[in-house]
This record gives sequence, structure tokens and C-alpha cells, in this order.
Amino acid sequence: MDDKVKALLERVKGTANYAADAAADGARAAGKKAGQMVDVAKLNVQLFDLNGEYNDILRQLGQVMYNTHKGEVPESDEVTKLLGQADEKMGKIAELKGRISDLKQAQSCPACGVPCGKGDKFCRACGTQL
Ligand SMILES: [Zn+2]
Repeated sequence: MDDKVKALLERVKGTANYAADAAADGARAAGKKAGQMVDVAKLNVQLFDLNGEYNDILRQLGQVMYNTHKGEVPESDEVTKLLGQADEKMGKIAELKGRISDLKQAQSCPACGVPCGKGDKFCRACGTQL
């Protein structure tokens, strides 16, 4: 990867980690929902990294396409390999988004603050009715 692009991506990534840390600090101050919100913040950082990797694969695919346009012959399995990687990242991104939305919809116990599942009738930690 281009050094300038790499440096830029590292900077953007640093900003995202900082934002996630800030979100985590805010969550701690908020008290009971803290665990749940920190989990969401962590997953959002993972999601950001995955999106970056996915975009990098798309960029490589674009490069191969442009090189082909310029008359270079791509290695036979290069495009297939990149498409496979893109599919894999897409799958992981969809899974993470699902987990984040589950966490956001989840309730937390009014007594002890532990995050519980959407459909839970009782707290898994202390047994309080939800
Ligand atoms: Zn509880």
C-alpha cells in the first residue's frame, strides 16, 4: 500500500480508537449501562477495522481492473482471491452489525445493571424480574 495512504489510514484509525475510548469513558460515567455500551464501543472499533480492510480489498480490485485497462494481465487467481476476501469481510461485517444491533436493543437489569437479552423475563445474574 502507498505509504501516504497507509499513514492517513493509521491517523483515521487513531481517531476512531480515541472516539471509542471517549464513548467508553462516557459509558462508565453513566453507570449501570456501562458494560453494554463498552461492548458496543468495542464492536464499533472492530467494525471500523473490518470496513477499512474491506475497502482496501475493493481498492486492490480497482487497481487490478485499472492495470488490466492499461494492458497488464492480472495473475489468473488474483481477482478470484480478492473477491473471496471481500465476501469474507462482508460476512463478518454483517455479523458484527447484527451483534451491535442486538446489544443496543438489549435491556439491562434495573437492580444490578447487568445486560440481559431482549426476550429475557428475569435477570440472568440476580434473578430480578425485568
Ligand atoms: Zn440483575
